[in-house]
Amino acid sequence: MAELIDGKKLALKIKGEVRVYAEKFEKTLGRKVGLAVVKVGDDPASAIYVRNKVKACDECNVQSFTYFLNGDSSQADVIALIKKLNNDNAVDGILVQLPLPKHVDERTVLAEIAPQKDADGFHVVNAGKLFLGESGGSVACTPRGIIELIKSTDQPIAGKHAVVVGRSNIVGKPIAALLLQNDATVTVCHSKTKNLSDFTKNADILVAAVGKKNFITADMVKPGAIVIDVGMNRDESGLHGDVDFDNVKDVAGYITPVPGGVGPMTVAMLLLNTVCGATSNE
Ligand code: NDP
Repeated sequence: MAELIDGKKLALKIKGEVRVYAEKFEKTLGRKVGLAVVKVGDDPASAIYVRNKVKACDECNVQSFTYFLNGDSSQADVIALIKKLNNDNAVDGILVQLPLPKHVDERTVLAEIAPQKDADGFHVVNAGKLFLGESGGSVACTPRGIIELIKSTDQPIAGKHAVVVGRSNIVGKPIAALLLQNDATVTVCHSKTKNLSDFTKNADILVAAVGKKNFITADMVKPGAIVIDVGMNRDESGLHGDVDFDNVKDVAGYITPVPGGVGPMTVAMLLLNTVCGATSNE
């Protein structure tokens, strides 16, 4: 029976540390650290994520500024807002909640965020720094949280075979880069990978970021592996991960639950990115 990796508990600890930094910042500079959250349109899941992020700002003594634009706002409207926020001294971090409506190009919009205010770590400059192993960039929140979850097991990462299923720019690719930086041997799988379970069965660390409910089954997992479930799949019965938790927990050594695993860590890392950015820019 796998040991549960408690993302909720770890996130609480990190948010406590962030609050200490944020209070120190306010005492020294006479203003709070500020995070601007931009949401375009009325995607119901985005509304939940934004609400959670604003709540976390309150918990961490960070000032949140929310901007909700109509779904029919133009790309130029979104970019104009970002430019305004780039020049606003009360705003240390900017987050554009994804997905954006189809007529707004995600890459173009994200590229407009000043890299030093890029709380999500999606800007091409910050992604580039991560891949080149350069310090000082903002690291994408979910992958940054995943590394902390793996480290919380006290199992070494160096020399381990890490298999990442999924190659998105926001999860799969950056977590692969971070695992490599931590000296794992990394395999990245995707929808064109043949015989997927040949790879997953050899993973000491398995990260599932696919977006398909119960996609990773017990027969795909190496006994004793660290299994990180990034998936957030909502249906009428609730929130489900990419991992068939009920069966995989009997094979894995460590496993994250959904909810209560990667999700809370993503939010905690967003706050950490914002406060670190504010501190280093002053
Ligand atoms: P994307 O849809 O952008 O990427 C999914 C990836 O899975 C793609 O690379 C795709 O391959 C791959 N894939 C799809 N089908 C298969 C298959 N049959 N075999 C192997 N690989 C496959 O998703 P995201 O990375 O944005 O998100 C993944 C999941 O994580 C989602 O459920 C999302 O909601 C969740 N998520 C959770 C977060 C959290 O904080 N907990 C944060 C961000 C995301 P290909 O590239 O070839 O299409």
